[in-house]
Amino acid sequence: MNNKIIITLSGGLDSSTVLAKVFEEKKDIYALTVNYGQKNWNKEIENVQKLCEIYNVKELKIIDCTWLGKMGGSAVTDSSINLEVKNDDKIYVPFRNTIILSACIAWAEILNCDLIYTGSINGDAEDICYDNTKKYYQILNMLVKEATRKNIKIEAPLINFDKKEVLELAISLNVPLEYTWSCVINNDYPCGKCFSCLDRKMAFNMLNQTDPNYTKVKEKKYGK
Ligand SMILES: [Zn+2]
Repeated sequence: MNNKIIITLSGGLDSSTVLAKVFEEKKDIYALTVNYGQKNWNKEIENVQKLCEIYNVKELKIIDCTWLGKMGGSAVTDSSINLEVKNDDKIYVPFRNTIILSACIAWAEILNCDLIYTGSINGDAEDICYDNTKKYYQILNMLVKEATRKNIKIEAPLINFDKKEVLELAISLNVPLEYTWSCVINNDYPCGKCFSCLDRKMAFNMLNQTDPNYTKVKEKKYGK
């Protein structure tokens, strides 16, 4: 096994924490991010690029899967669907995680890399997102073993962490939280209402922390 690792990076709290963790472990980091037509893509890529600079990522691969967003059906991509908490089954993007991980697996074969990390966490809407469970990863690993020339392993190192525990780890690893972005609706400021904003807000509140993304908004708004 060599020192290379591929991580899926969205610029959210979870994948940014995984990035910081593998940086501490002194891995040779290759990051993959996917434009699947998500509403917050501009903000995601802005943060992903910044994080890659900070964490000395060897290569950032940006994959175009905008065809997925064009199919619609998810509030994360489809502008005709509003995302409200009571409407949260619409947060699922059909087969997205397998599509993203397929790109990672192909890249791992080419890079001669044995290990792929994702940012999936415990209870990450498991009842809605079937592609985000321990069972899913077990089965995917079986497929990868059967279908590739290499012995590639996909792991979700935060799969037993809830959002509060992820934030605790992020703080202990000095993750630059101002360069992480969770809101799935807006590009300019967090909406504070989508499932992702609420989840993040709850974690910050539980740890009595201030989310720098809201501070940035305030600074922008009042010109401070
Ligand atoms: Zn939001």
